[in-house]
Amino acid sequence: MLSELIAELPEGVVVTDPDILASYRQDRAADPSAGTPLAVVRPTRTEEVQTVLRWASAHRIAVVPRGAGTGLSGGATALDGGVVLSTEKMRDIVVDPITRTAVVQPGLLNAEVKKAVAAHGLWYPPDPSSYEICSIGGNVATNAGGLCCVKYGVTTDYILGLQVVLADGTAVRLGGPRLKDVAGLSLTKLFVGSEGTLGVVTEATLRLLPPQHPPCTVVATFDSVEAAASAVVKITGTIRPAMLEFMDSVAINAVEDKLRMGLDRTAAAMMVAASDDRGAAGADDAAFMAAVFTEHGATEVFSTADPDEGEAFVAARRFAIPAVEAKGTLLLEDVGVPLPALAALVGGVAEIAAQRRVLISVIAHAGDGNTHPLIVFDPSDADEAQRAQLAFGEIMDLAIGLGGTITGEHGVGRLKRPWLAGQIGPDALALNQRIKQALDPLNILNPGAAI
Ligand SMILES: Cc1cc2nc3c(=O)[nH]c(=O)nc-3n(C[C@H](O)[C@H](O)[C@H](O)COP(=O)(O)OP(=O)(O)OC[C@H]3O[C@@H](n4cnc5c(N)ncnc54)[C@H](O)[C@@H]3O)c2cc1C
Repeated sequence: MLSELIAELPEGVVVTDPDILASYRQDRAADPSAGTPLAVVRPTRTEEVQTVLRWASAHRIAVVPRGAGTGLSGGATALDGGVVLSTEKMRDIVVDPITRTAVVQPGLLNAEVKKAVAAHGLWYPPDPSSYEICSIGGNVATNAGGLCCVKYGVTTDYILGLQVVLADGTAVRLGGPRLKDVAGLSLTKLFVGSEGTLGVVTEATLRLLPPQHPPCTVVATFDSVEAAASAVVKITGTIRPAMLEFMDSVAINAVEDKLRMGLDRTAAAMMVAASDDRGAAGADDAAFMAAVFTEHGATEVFSTADPDEGEAFVAARRFAIPAVEAKGTLLLEDVGVPLPALAALVGGVAEIAAQRRVLISVIAHAGDGNTHPLIVFDPSDADEAQRAQLAFGEIMDLAIGLGGTITGEHGVGRLKRPWLAGQIGPDALALNQRIKQALDPLNILNPGAAI
């Protein structure tokens, strides 16, 4: 079967070297149940993706789409006997400054997109902390969020059009460089966040904005996480900050261990907030946030209008996951709640950590109510690994109980799938499955993920 595919594609597109296959088995979630694929296929053009899917349909072979493999929910975990379709060699971009759009292939990294459009004086806002290492196709497939999303929205808000290859190999174009377009069902949005289960994104038309104004940044430390969480609710109820990020004491110390930048190791929580409104308005919002932090008991508040100084704290926040990862293996959560429930979520996570006797660090895109409890465990300690798994489920149950979500931005993938029904209920789950069945009746696209 594989020789048929090899014959139909240019030389080198299909890779079967066992060492290379091994490096495509897992994404950053490091799912221990990952299989070993038959092959990794690295197409350069939409037509080659079509060839792969026609072949896979004919032979009923599972295809796991993969961008840069930075996903945190096991969505790109390889399957035994399947193929991994990596978009890493699809890297073209064309920017149109007149319509303020860019047409981009999926394998370009988010940071490369930002750089290419910045050369035309434009800005692509979505900024996952992983922006230097994740692909734009992966961002589309997970509907990635990030730090500035509290003001600017998430990936789907910047997707005007897509080209998608369906399970049977048909390539469809949806939407395009039009700011308003309601012709037909809203299918572009259906594919955003579909985690490779409905089609392979081979091109995206992105909406771009004029450049961001230099931000005013406010950093505050607290001796209680609840105090920090309540400050968030006050701020978002009054203004629209461009960033409102949270780190707990474990994350602060883990980052300080690595970066040595003088963070307050004794603080229970640190907030990094910013306003990018122009001129005096930005300074006013920064002053307002500083005042709210003080009112809510901040132990120290520091404001700066120097973008480089501010960026150092933002970089510290972005570095939190790799820093905590240095302490052990991580089970990464992505639970979110309506903002008034943020303090209850953070408090509930602390109770679970105490009951299950596992270290859980919490970082958060706090202004979105989207938290990342990071459960640290030693996989060679079977008892601790089991307690970590129990905590993983209990945190999602807690979020659902607070009217929240099991995933704000990383996707369901394979690791959170058992909790999906508990959040969306049987009717919505059945509707998801009917859509999957209609688009991929042979269930070859990323089976076992997301839905
Ligand atoms: C340190 C760190 C920080 C992070 N911070 C954030 C953050 O702030 N916000 C955030 O949202 N995420 C964050 N992430 C998670 C991750 O970077 C995002 O989910 C990202 O969008 C994944 O992109 P990727 O290219 O690595 O995709 P992959 O991991 O390769 O794939 C992710 C999913 O998308 C599917 N997929 C990939 N490409 C395509 C395609 N072309 N067509 C169809 N399906 C496809 C895969 O099948 C899989 O289901 C972080 C990850 C790390 C390691």
